[in-house]
Amino acid sequence: MAQQHILDLHGRFRKRRMRMTRPRRTIVDILGRTKLHLSAEEIFSRVRKQCPSIGFTTVYRTLDVLEDMGVVVKHHFGDGRGRYELADNPQKPEHHHHLVCTRCRRIIDYDDFVEEEVGFVRKLERQLSKKHVFTITGHVIQFHGVCRSCGDAA
Ligand SMILES: [Zn+2]
Ligand SMILES: [Zn+2]
Ligand SMILES: [Zn+2]
Repeated sequence: MAQQHILDLHGRFRKRRMRMTRPRRTIVDILGRTKLHLSAEEIFSRVRKQCPSIGFTTVYRTLDVLEDMGVVVKHHFGDGRGRYELADNPQKPEHHHHLVCTRCRRIIDYDDFVEEEVGFVRKLERQLSKKHVFTITGHVIQFHGVCRSCGDAA
């Protein structure tokens, strides 16, 4: 399953006539094997274990390219560093929202949306697009707060 997914990604690269270079493949493989939202530094330290010849600048630039291609999504969760995840990670729900704990920095991916949430987002998108004459093609939703374990400790 995960292997098939990596192959699909390779196809996506070919379609855009972009080469699946070693840094690109390494980063996509790393992100496809984790449920975490890794920073560029964290990705770099994992890349180094596999390919010590790839430098940080290359990792950073490659992440930019992958983001432009829509393969990788960059998030800002409020800890001052961009965090990356695959747009389509076999280990994660396809479309999900985030709960960010401001104490332990845990990030919870959820796609078990409450019914009201789905209805609200649809309605909001309809109204926004009408009001601003703007075609909405997607959204990113994250909530900040205190997770269960941090709440218990307080
Ligand atoms: Zn959503
Ligand atoms: Zn927490
Ligand atoms: Zn996520």
